[in-house]
Amino acid sequence: MLAKQVDISKLAEIPCECGETAKAAALNYKDYLVKGWKCKSCKKEYISPEDSLKISEFERMKKSGLKVKVAEIGQSLAIRIPKPLAEIYNLTKGETVNLRPENLKKIEIEFE
Ligand SMILES: [Zn+2]
Repeated sequence: MLAKQVDISKLAEIPCECGETAKAAALNYKDYLVKGWKCKSCKKEYISPEDSLKISEFERMKKSGLKVKVAEIGQSLAIRIPKPLAEIYNLTKGETVNLRPENLKKIEIEFE
């Protein structure tokens, strides 16, 4: 028999350790606003595994950076933004970003 996969991130409530139910809520975790559940009874908070994974990935990228290759598209050069990073910033194809040269070793990308 095949086990049915359930995306628990979409559940409106989950059982809490205290026996009550924790309801879906936006939670503050470190410096981030994440999806999760909060129990009104015991105040325990549960962070969605999906967001928890995204945060650890984000922190890892913040620490060590991401090496990507410069590509050529017509007369311009392009820098690939890996999907996990694009997802964090809700970046989609066709969007406009602002490139701001900071110094000769650094360019800042601003999202609108
Ligand atoms: Zn509880």
